Amino acid sequence: MTDNDTTPAIDRSPLAGRIVDTLIHRIGKDERAARKHDWLAATILTLRDEIIDKWMASTRQAHAAGAKRVYYLSLEFLIGRLLRDALSNLGRNAEVAEALASLGVDLAEIEEIEPDAALGNGGLGRLAACFMESMATLELPAYGYGIRYVNGMFRQRIDDGWQVELPETWLAHGNPWEFERRESAYFIGFGGEVTGNEAGHVHWKPAEAVEAVAYDTPVVGWRGKRVNTLRLWSARAFDPIRLDAFNAGDHIGALAGQARAESLVRVLYPSDSSSAGQELRLRQEYFFSSASIQDIVRRHVQYFGDIRTLPDKAAIQLNDTHPAVSVAELMRLLIDHHDLPFEEAWEVTRRTFGYTNHTLLPEALESWPLPLFERLLPRHMQLIYAINGRVLREARKSPSMGDHSVAAISLIDENGERRVRMANLAFVASHSVNGVAALHTELMKQTVFADLHRLYPERINNKTNGITPRRWLMGCNPALTALIRDAIGPAFCDDAAELRSLDSFADDASFRERFAEVKRSNKVGLSNFIRESTGLRLDPDALFDVQIKRVHEYKRQLLNIIETVALYDQIRSHPEKDWTPRVKLFAGKAASSYHNAKMIIKLANDVAKRINSDPSVGGLLKVAFISNYNVSLAERIIPAADLSEQISTAGMEASGTGNMKFALNGALTIGTLDGANIEIKDHVGDENIVIFGLTADEVAAKRAGDYRPREIIEGSRELSQAVNAIASGVFSPDDPDRYRDLMNGLYDRDWFMVAADFDGYAAAQRSVDARWADRSNWQASAVRNVARVGWFSSDRTIGEYAREIWGAM
Ligand SMILES: *Cc1c(COP(=O)(O)O)cnc(C)c1O
Repeated sequence: MTDNDTTPAIDRSPLAGRIVDTLIHRIGKDERAARKHDWLAATILTLRDEIIDKWMASTRQAHAAGAKRVYYLSLEFLIGRLLRDALSNLGRNAEVAEALASLGVDLAEIEEIEPDAALGNGGLGRLAACFMESMATLELPAYGYGIRYVNGMFRQRIDDGWQVELPETWLAHGNPWEFERRESAYFIGFGGEVTGNEAGHVHWKPAEAVEAVAYDTPVVGWRGKRVNTLRLWSARAFDPIRLDAFNAGDHIGALAGQARAESLVRVLYPSDSSSAGQELRLRQEYFFSSASIQDIVRRHVQYFGDIRTLPDKAAIQLNDTHPAVSVAELMRLLIDHHDLPFEEAWEVTRRTFGYTNHTLLPEALESWPLPLFERLLPRHMQLIYAINGRVLREARKSPSMGDHSVAAISLIDENGERRVRMANLAFVASHSVNGVAALHTELMKQTVFADLHRLYPERINNKTNGITPRRWLMGCNPALTALIRDAIGPAFCDDAAELRSLDSFADDASFRERFAEVKRSNKVGLSNFIRESTGLRLDPDALFDVQIKRVHEYKRQLLNIIETVALYDQIRSHPEKDWTPRVKLFAGKAASSYHNAKMIIKLANDVAKRINSDPSVGGLLKVAFISNYNVSLAERIIPAADLSEQISTAGMEASGTGNMKFALNGALTIGTLDGANIEIKDHVGDENIVIFGLTADEVAAKRAGDYRPREIIEGSRELSQAVNAIASGVFSPDDPDRYRDLMNGLYDRDWFMVAADFDGYAAAQRSVDARWADRSNWQASAVRNVARVGWFSSDRTIGEYAREIWGAM
């Protein structure tokens, strides 16, 4: 990087020496030849060597204590970068920065080039990552299990306003964090047939098979107390090359097995909140479930001998239904390999599993066509029938269960094409079924699981989501962290509830002043980033109004954009008024097959282009769509936000976790009474949040009654002008009809109630302007948000899971 000739080696710290040693002996470069990626890898490998000792100590300790282990099964882990997190959790930041500086390397610079591990779509995957960190922090012996996708979430480029999806190659420079465990490999079969012998022994002879190979990444808890393992599975053919075919000249066919195996772990299904009904997806789910369950069973038997004690020593949590086939896999191993009778196997299974539901959207509830399931997993299909028979017989005993209820509970959907219902399977096979926010849990009881809830009234419970304050405050907002520490001391670093002590500082004018300076400098930093990446200049003194999340109709980016258009119109019509300068920031990806979501991205970009180049708004309004939303971008944007947009149609956002990150960084929320917004409101107080719109009950009632969006649009001047402007091509002069269908969707159906909530939202936005004008009051509210959302730490959430579901604390 720089010329090191003048740096005498003698001045180097032992740590710097180790980094150079790693560079030479493990990367194979000397200091002169090393590039940034080499320094990054050398730094990570050096750190990893130190982590290994703690890692092994953690494993030994859990073993010696005979501790119960927690297994978190998730098809998604939205990890982001790890170096900064690991350094900070180990308390090694300053030391490593100094060592690298002595080598002429800037730590911040190499942190920036670490690939963002995006093995997830959105909130569900990020929750799994926050949970992994909190489980290590709370010193729970825990393993995360998932898939090591070669291409994770796609990289988003915006071309002329349109989303373009590019493959993300996060493994291009290798992954210095992981260990390949060639010895931890499992046989995963598919298809074939099931035979039984006279003794009642069942034998499944799969038609094809792949090998699952483990890759382990250490997860370091806060203060390095414990290091847990994230075990991701990759797939390998048993016979990487069929030599007979190769020698016969069929060079491609000889490698087909390996290609088929690799296809299993090639892609993350880019579907947030909609089910991916593909055979490959079911294969992925079974592949990672089977490998994980085999691994768990193997470890238990090795440590404890008797498989029947599994529920005392292992808690398996299913992150949504994606790993639900694990239930049938465990039953299969218990019955076919460990000779347990069905009833006993069922008891062991039910006591071991817990299931977390993440969505009530009917299109996101996974189910598989029965013929597909049976062809791919014939033995599991038999077991599901057996489980179903047992559950339905039990249901029939209850006088309150009529035919209708029994049909609703069944693991097999008999309406139309027969399908296997994964949510029902996960529900009946778990001793705990939880929602992720209070409202969501209530709605689970009333809607999707109403009948199952009547049959098993003790099973559903709530565990409101959380976020790790290490990444989402201390890591992403060092200036605010330092300010808080100055004010209340460091106790909040170990217990986010201690942030409460900050509350009284809301009344301290000089503290508010310093708080405002931190926010402003974060906004300057973000403005510089946006200027460098898009050329757009932003005023850091404007109100930064931010909506960043997956793009989905239920999240209602469209409501925000239409309001932006209305505001633009107002500013132009009434230039004499005292408008609040605003910057509207958007970021988010749309599922590649989701047409309307992609149109919404294009619309945000079209609106931005028009407004940003209109001199008549005089810089009072700027709009930016920042491409490629991911964890690293969130870490950059959230500390610079003044206003957090959490405006989903009530009843549709299970929890949200973005809402928590913003509040923790001193943004005020404008939001609906949906998901965790309700609990955030309860914690920060009504006067420190801006709530508008229909409640979940009102949305349900409108949908059931005769909701007439056309009349509402025509009855609201602002709304109809904005919708008409978009529909008639004001923002798309190159293609005036571009948004005709999108706007007609609002007139004709408006399932997401954009029209119904528009006036309330616009009024709420004007109340935000009024609050912003009273700057000290705004800052006081912002401080109170930080002080009062410590409860949303994932440490609190994991503590509840551990005590109330896992029996592990
Ligand atoms: C937190 C987070 C999410 C979830 O955000 P919501 O606003 O709750 O949908 C999604 N993606 C990334 C990268 C995140 O960090």
